[in-house]
Amino acid sequence: MESYIQISKLNDFIFCPHSLYLHSIYDNFNAKIYHGDAQIRGKIVHECIDEGYYSTAKKYLSGIEIYSQKYGLAGKIDIYDSELMILIERKNKIKKIYDGYKYQLYAQYFCLLEMGFLVKKMCLHSLKDNKRYWISLPDKNEVRKFEKLIEDIGSFDFHNIVRKNKDKCKNCIYNPLCIY
Ligand code: SF4
Repeated sequence: MESYIQISKLNDFIFCPHSLYLHSIYDNFNAKIYHGDAQIRGKIVHECIDEGYYSTAKKYLSGIEIYSQKYGLAGKIDIYDSELMILIERKNKIKKIYDGYKYQLYAQYFCLLEMGFLVKKMCLHSLKDNKRYWISLPDKNEVRKFEKLIEDIGSFDFHNIVRKNKDKCKNCIYNPLCIY
């Protein structure tokens, strides 16, 4: 059976590869056991999107399933404005544009292209302060970095983890469950 990388997990892997492992293990447990408030709020935002609460306007496609055979990716988009061809990913509150956010958008972008949708622009939308952050479409250099990330995930050895940044562990939602 073909296996796909879930787009939502790119961010976890960039944050810490071991968190990706823990994410998979605890996927079926009650999220409240390990999710912090911010993650719970983010999840509620996405559940609303999945149920189509964002807008009834037909130009907005929300929560549709996407995939890329080329990169072995699967997931869902948040919102696609089919008139203006803008891909939008909403977050509860954006304090910083993390690489993980950017690569999540790139992944959605590549999936949409492969599925025949044109994307002219992409942005992150911070809901709490209603700010939009425009993200450039990936140039050659960014495509290379994105492809390297996909390769790294595909070849990652979970038995060989080196914890690089102890500060991250302090803010990590998996901290109580992590052996590192
Ligand atoms: S506690 Fe540290 S090592 Fe463990 S998953 Fe979180 S960031 Fe990674």
